Amino acid sequence: MLIYNTLSGQKENLEKASINKKIRLFVCGPTVYDYAHIGNARTYIAFDIIVRWLRKSGWKVYYLQNITDIDDKIIRRAAEENISPETLARKYEKIYLSDMKTLGIKSVTKYARATDHIRQIIRQIQALIKNGNAYEISGDGIYFDISTFASYGKLSRRTTEQAEDSISRIDESVNKKNKGDFALWKLTRSEKPAWDSPWGPGRPGWHIEDTAITEHYFGSQYEVHGGAVDLKFPHHEAEIAQQESASGKSPLAKIWMHTGFLLVGGKKMAKSAGNFITVRDFLKKYPVSISRYLVAVHHYRSPMDYSDKLAQQAESAIDNLSQFVAKLSLVYRDGRQETQVKEDLRKAGESFETAMNDDFNTPEALAAIFILVNEFQKNFWDLGKAGAKKVKKFIKERLNDLGIELFLPKVPFKIKQIAKKRELFRVNKQFVQSDNLRKEIERLGYGVEDTPAGPFLWPKGKD
Ligand SMILES: [Zn+2]
Repeated sequence: MLIYNTLSGQKENLEKASINKKIRLFVCGPTVYDYAHIGNARTYIAFDIIVRWLRKSGWKVYYLQNITDIDDKIIRRAAEENISPETLARKYEKIYLSDMKTLGIKSVTKYARATDHIRQIIRQIQALIKNGNAYEISGDGIYFDISTFASYGKLSRRTTEQAEDSISRIDESVNKKNKGDFALWKLTRSEKPAWDSPWGPGRPGWHIEDTAITEHYFGSQYEVHGGAVDLKFPHHEAEIAQQESASGKSPLAKIWMHTGFLLVGGKKMAKSAGNFITVRDFLKKYPVSISRYLVAVHHYRSPMDYSDKLAQQAESAIDNLSQFVAKLSLVYRDGRQETQVKEDLRKAGESFETAMNDDFNTPEALAAIFILVNEFQKNFWDLGKAGAKKVKKFIKERLNDLGIELFLPKVPFKIKQIAKKRELFRVNKQFVQSDNLRKEIERLGYGVEDTPAGPFLWPKGKD
């Protein structure tokens, strides 16, 4: 199993990174202050496909995700909505989990809230102070001193001099030793929420929650850390600095995986740009399978430029596949290609597996299915009943690996009846009557195709 490791800049054998096929995987979870957007969906669907495939291939994966339920954005939004930060966080956490369920994401072993791990966060900050990596600014908070961590920047290949260009509000302080130093604990005067700490009441910084959580569940080192590419710096760099300084062990994670950017109409998604699409808005327009197909048809590391056109292409690709599979059920006679079918399926299965084992190359895995379908379409009715059944099973299983479901609509009885009547006219060469009934079927939203096994009915696309 080859995986591209951001840390080394090369593909590496997962076998070398793990003992007894056990994988501890941590993926940065959401900050629950708003609805999840399609960029979030891309990352979490990608990791869902990855974990499904690893488990299918015999890896024992513990998939941990954090929930950032305390943060500046949460506090700001809660004030706007005139509710407590906790109420706001719980509301959007619920929405997030329900959206993930809708998207078919069921691979996460454990979701861990930051506020449920304040004790672990404080303990890690204490270790950092003791080791000389963190310092207190009186009346302000505890900061990580990036000058004490020699390999700061090793993941993103940045230097400490560049570290200042991505600082969030919580990390601002005029009294910091280095511009890139970030807050581990922020003291609060009277504002809520606040937790007691050895330094006074306050709240944790963003980066420290992840390493406190992973240390709690995984220990100071584990196999794979994942997340969206925009978290690489400063967030993931800070995680490395914190955990490796606290434990003195390196690396924090052996393999770092990053999912590519999602753009909408060529631009970064932003509410101000008018191109912000939430998961819920997307699902009002398209079925879940479209979202999963869109993720799978791009390699997880590649950027994706989302547009309605792209979604429509995905919809028609799934529609074509679905039609093919539905038509397979019509194959009635014995085939003359049984052994050939078996051989073709074996080869396609091999291509699918090879692609998935090569850094989860889902576009190539999908291509293996499409090549097979194109090949079988040429001599479709020669497939034979037994062959058709095997092909159907094969396609459904492979798509299931990616979490993509076919659209296999039940044709209403009424339409079937009209089609039957039309078929009688047609075989009697009463073409005017049969044509009228075709139009009737089309008016009801279905297309009819005459096949050696009788009429094949299919709902017509929206176009
Ligand atoms: Zn994170």
